[in-house]
Amino acid sequence: MNAPGARRPLVSGNWKMHLDHLEAIHAARDLGLRLQPADVAAVDVSVHPPFTDIRSVQSVLEGEGVPVALGAQNCAIEDAGAFTGEVSPTMLARLHVEYVLVGHSERRQLFGETDEVVAAKVSAVLRNGMTPVCCVGETIDEREVGLAQERLASQVGAAVAAVPRASVASLVVAYEPVWAIGTGQAATAGDAQEACAWIRDTVRSAAGSEAADGVRIQYGGSVTPDNTEELVRCPDVDGVLVGGASLDAAAFVEIVRAATRAVR
Ligand code: PEP
Repeated sequence: MNAPGARRPLVSGNWKMHLDHLEAIHAARDLGLRLQPADVAAVDVSVHPPFTDIRSVQSVLEGEGVPVALGAQNCAIEDAGAFTGEVSPTMLARLHVEYVLVGHSERRQLFGETDEVVAAKVSAVLRNGMTPVCCVGETIDEREVGLAQERLASQVGAAVAAVPRASVASLVVAYEPVWAIGTGQAATAGDAQEACAWIRDTVRSAAGSEAADGVRIQYGGSVTPDNTEELVRCPDVDGVLVGGASLDAAAFVEIVRAATRAVR
């Protein structure tokens, strides 16, 4: 059981490969018009636009004082070099990116990212002064044969092993069961809590209690304004990672407000 208020929830919007830079400017402005100071008093918020939008969104967030941190969806392992088509974590940091998603299930499944690659990216993000949001989650097949806990332990274990012990508490882990992403079938609060507790236990075994008590664990997978409050009330769920619903500024702000209600 975490000490109430010890971990500030993080609500993150993963825009995936949606919204061109003009649409992204509009979306960022829309968020700025809707978010009130009370909405972000107890909760951190980030948005993760496509790479082609990042500079435009940075200008809106900073120029218009929108209280939302800038995020990215992926990055290269190396800081610079002959890696055609890759995106440097150093260059993301220069654009004031604060959070980088690493190992999203779409990266793992569609682009072959292994636990080792994900761990190297976690390390690259930290090396560049940003916060990795390391995504982990079991497939439906793994869940049905009782392998969910084992799969989460190996994904989390690989990421934590790549991080100096003193930095583990600053990580964000996103528990995203693959069967819940984009399906409209969110995990129940009970299932999300159970998995997030397993993740925290894995961090505790690998890096100690201080790390486990500090690390923020989000739930992701078909999050909506209606299911957020119950999810974030779970003692080991420290926020949500939102895909589809984050493309609608009104819905995303309602999710931020629901997360705030859960911690008040
Ligand atoms: C995601 O993209 O990380 C995600 C959780 O998507 P959705 O909210 O649409 O299920």
